[in-house]
Amino acid sequence: MAVLPIVITGEPVLHTPAAEVTGFDETLATLIADMFDTMAAAPGVGLAAPQVGVPLRVFVYNWIDDDNQTWRGVAINPELWITPAPAGEPDEETESEGCLSIPGERFPLRRGARAILHALDADGAPYEVEAEGWLARIFQHEYDHLDGTLYADRLGHADSRAIGKVIRKNGWGEPGASWLPGVDDLDA
Ligand code: ZN
Repeated sequence: MAVLPIVITGEPVLHTPAAEVTGFDETLATLIADMFDTMAAAPGVGLAAPQVGVPLRVFVYNWIDDDNQTWRGVAINPELWITPAPAGEPDEETESEGCLSIPGERFPLRRGARAILHALDADGAPYEVEAEGWLARIFQHEYDHLDGTLYADRLGHADSRAIGKVIRKNGWGEPGASWLPGVDDLDA
């Protein structure tokens, strides 16, 4: 059990496609357990392995929907099918998302309303989740991380400039920045 430092935008691992998991060994089990601990400490609803500096196609998620159902799991070597994001401007109130690797910020972004996640669990067994709403958004956000894409890369022009400003102001956007949940007081 360990809370890991979360790397911040600018760290190359966040901007590089991650590699498929090939071995379901003790090292992977420890990584997954640590990722759940780190996500809980942040706190966050999703966390991808590149965010803790590990270039593997793994993410964890933990979301309670409006019906009080908990969606919690690990997705290894996932595939994701999504419905197209609707056209038009995103709504600041209902479509703003944040990222533990750009802590403390939220910007609105259009995402597909539905997604089907196909992935392996911690034992290497395949499973599928049909998601909608915020869970579908979480899956899209985390899946993007595995391809080296941050939500900041998908923002519209004005928000893209705004988040770029924040990143520069914080001294991020270059290698070496990280924060430790539970220790560093960052409201992500
Ligand atoms: Zn993120």
